[in-house]
Amino acid sequence: MKPESLMMTHGYNPEWSEGAIKAPIFQTSTFVFKNAEEGKRFFAIAYGKMEKPLEEPMGLIYSRINNPNMQILEERMALYEGSDDAAIFESGMSGISTVMLSFLRPGDVLVFSNPTYGGTHHFIQHVLTDFGIKVYPFSSSVHPADIRKKLESDGVLDRVRLLYLETPANPTNELIDIQAWADFRDQLKSENINAKLAVDNTYMGPIWQKPLEFGADLVCYSATKFLNGHSDLIAGVVCGDKESMVAVKTMRTFIGNMAGPHTSWLLTRSIETLKLRMDRQGENAQKIVDWLLNHPKVTRVYFPGLESQGVEQVEIYKKQCLAPGAMVSFDVAGGEKTAFAILNKLKLIKLAVSLGSNESLAQHPYSMTHADVPDDVKESLNLTDAMIRLSVGIEDAEDIISDLAQAMG
Ligand SMILES: *Cc1c(COP(=O)(O)O)cnc(C)c1O
Repeated sequence: MKPESLMMTHGYNPEWSEGAIKAPIFQTSTFVFKNAEEGKRFFAIAYGKMEKPLEEPMGLIYSRINNPNMQILEERMALYEGSDDAAIFESGMSGISTVMLSFLRPGDVLVFSNPTYGGTHHFIQHVLTDFGIKVYPFSSSVHPADIRKKLESDGVLDRVRLLYLETPANPTNELIDIQAWADFRDQLKSENINAKLAVDNTYMGPIWQKPLEFGADLVCYSATKFLNGHSDLIAGVVCGDKESMVAVKTMRTFIGNMAGPHTSWLLTRSIETLKLRMDRQGENAQKIVDWLLNHPKVTRVYFPGLESQGVEQVEIYKKQCLAPGAMVSFDVAGGEKTAFAILNKLKLIKLAVSLGSNESLAQHPYSMTHADVPDDVKESLNLTDAMIRLSVGIEDAEDIISDLAQAMG
């Protein structure tokens, strides 16, 4: 069966909760053991001193380690992603930073795609570097062979431990070839250099891009975005193979940045409608892109698969993406002045950052989400003050287009 058919029932048995069709919120910090022997056994499994029989669910100990709401959600996310396991975090950033802290030690090398989400960029450039981690950013036009040369000439190739990609990149929708970087990871492995490949898949969700199928070890999400889709919580998810997830979940246990039962419960409810929402958002986005391409004030539209993104970009799109998504960026003639005038006139579409929710949002990346990126770097990424970024919601497409039409004149 398809994941969307199982999102209402997988991993929960109504018999556990008085027949309740939906899992209640297990708002509890700790769990009572049947006897001391059971407590001993649960701890032995939790601390890896004893192998858990596969069919046996993990014993409930304490809500920092596990909780039924977290566990049901993790099983459903693993099912959607096609991964061995999943871990829920209190934010996308806590998931991403925990992945980085799980695999990087002082002197190690992190290779990452640029541009990346502002919070991720800050964590890499200002926190990891303080801990002695060497960081190598690369842009979408750079290939693994180029980075390899640089790492070799710096004498640090053998210290590569994490390759981190964000694709499509925000807000330019530039794609990175996941498979090419998985091949690089494999090449390193054949030289006894063990690096993980992690992909931030927030822009595409598990519906439109499957990084694990192209060789990624870990997939990171800001669940605040499409996964939740209702702009009413902050959360993160990391999915991956068993070995990688043991490291991530162990780190999470000791940092203590898991999501609580209420957030997990809300998110479990949200992913029941994930496919419906994303299908509709994708359809709406396509209609808006077609309309923008014919608007006289629009000088360029940034959307995966469009010819204007470049030949190599279209190739990656065809290989890697199941759909172009629902994030649309476009440039308007007249720069910031025109962009602001349009943003100030929007009525249905709200002027706010964040993305992937059921309501449409618009913002000005140059002065808002990417304000922190140096101007020359922004220009080199094609990110000018003429750009507006839209996150397309589930409203009626005609209504969204009429709102844009009245604002753009
Ligand atoms: C929002 C976002 C994040 C950070 O997630 P939070 O839930 O805000 O912590 C990371 N990556 C991408 C691509 C995002 O859009």
